[in-house]
Amino acid sequence: MALSGLEIYKLLAKTNCKKCGFPTCLAFAMQLAAKKTSLDKCPSVSEEAKNALESASRPPIKLVTIGEGEEKLEAGNETVLFRHEEKFYHPTGIGFLLEDTQSADELKKAIEEIKKLDFERVGQRIGVNLVALSCKSNDAAKFVEALKTILGGCALPLALMSDDPLIIEKALEISKDKKPLIYKATGVNFKEMANLAKKYKVPLVASAPTLEELAGLVKNLNTEGIEDIILDTGDKALAEKLWDLTQIRRLALKKAFRPFGYPVITFTKSGDPAREVAEASSYVAKYAGIVVLRTRLAWAVLPILTLRQNLYTDPQKPLQVESKIYEVGQVTDKSPVLVTTNFSLTYYTVEGEVEASKVPSFIVVCDAEGMSVLTAWAADKFTADSIASALDKFSIKDKVSHKDLIIPGYVSVLSGKLEEKSGRKVVVGPREASGIPVFLRNLGK
Ligand code: SF4
Repeated sequence: MALSGLEIYKLLAKTNCKKCGFPTCLAFAMQLAAKKTSLDKCPSVSEEAKNALESASRPPIKLVTIGEGEEKLEAGNETVLFRHEEKFYHPTGIGFLLEDTQSADELKKAIEEIKKLDFERVGQRIGVNLVALSCKSNDAAKFVEALKTILGGCALPLALMSDDPLIIEKALEISKDKKPLIYKATGVNFKEMANLAKKYKVPLVASAPTLEELAGLVKNLNTEGIEDIILDTGDKALAEKLWDLTQIRRLALKKAFRPFGYPVITFTKSGDPAREVAEASSYVAKYAGIVVLRTRLAWAVLPILTLRQNLYTDPQKPLQVESKIYEVGQVTDKSPVLVTTNFSLTYYTVEGEVEASKVPSFIVVCDAEGMSVLTAWAADKFTADSIASALDKFSIKDKVSHKDLIIPGYVSVLSGKLEEKSGRKVVVGPREASGIPVFLRNLGK
């Protein structure tokens, strides 16, 4: 938990000697709290103050990285319980459970299915993050064989799942460069698993059925020198799991309880994909750092990724597209001109419907600070003046030979003033984007 300026001040020498470059210790403390200077600027700082300030500057939930390079998965480093307080930083990693008892062909097919789970939504790519291989056979050779099949076809980060340190080590010998997550250290095997995590420099899951046991296990792992930890509270019903996730996040953030200052991994249990969507969505919404699914069906995975994208968008900064004229299809100087705002979801909804209409069109996107049409209109950010000035700025007159301009039906009230300001003939379009295809196809009929 970060210290306030006054709390830092209490730890300083209070001599106001100015050697730090600030006129008083209080001024220095305030700048330090705002992270605008560093503690080493003060030569008089005591060991006690150093320790207190260093531990206060550690993030309440550690950032843990699985894998390397562009595909690496980062979990943790979250600072708030509720998204509106600030924002959530590291989107929940979505993984898939595979088993070493599956044949090589089944594993290859599964990998191909996982690789296809890559989508575009509101101009962003959303995809999956992890493959978790479980050792069901309890046979190191079989586990390594299955791992080789996965390594041959998949670049995603890996989780290696076995309680047996000997099996995990065999798998690490061929996959250590990918920095996989090893699952799992328990009260029984934690020393051996900790040794593997240290030897191969990989993150480790700490797993215990109760929060008390989990806290004890994490302390033991810390004593062994392990800091890259992911928490797991085992196989439980959804309600119990949500309780665990919430308690862990609360204790880490509100009580600065260090043993819970790590991301959490969860696994869906249901064999029914629709129920898995509900399970996984609950975990994504309630703080899971990683969710491992059984289903690989696109219709089940896409809503989970969509929810994750929405939750991990900064609520203070709506996703925006560039304000400019977009061309959809093979436009000509006769093509219709539609106008909308630069809120990503609005633009991509309009663009999708224009595309579906098969009527090549221009879309003029006005800068409305990332607000949707009605919100922007209510906030005076989508006005006759701003639309007219966007038309001028982007020189729509050089693109089309006609004077028609289609505005969203919800802002039909702008028509008169917009005609006056732009010198164009305003045509009121449909209220909902879903009406665009029929509207465009009927134009001029
Ligand atoms: S150098 Fe240290 S003791 Fe001196 S004014 Fe700055 S904070 Fe205070």
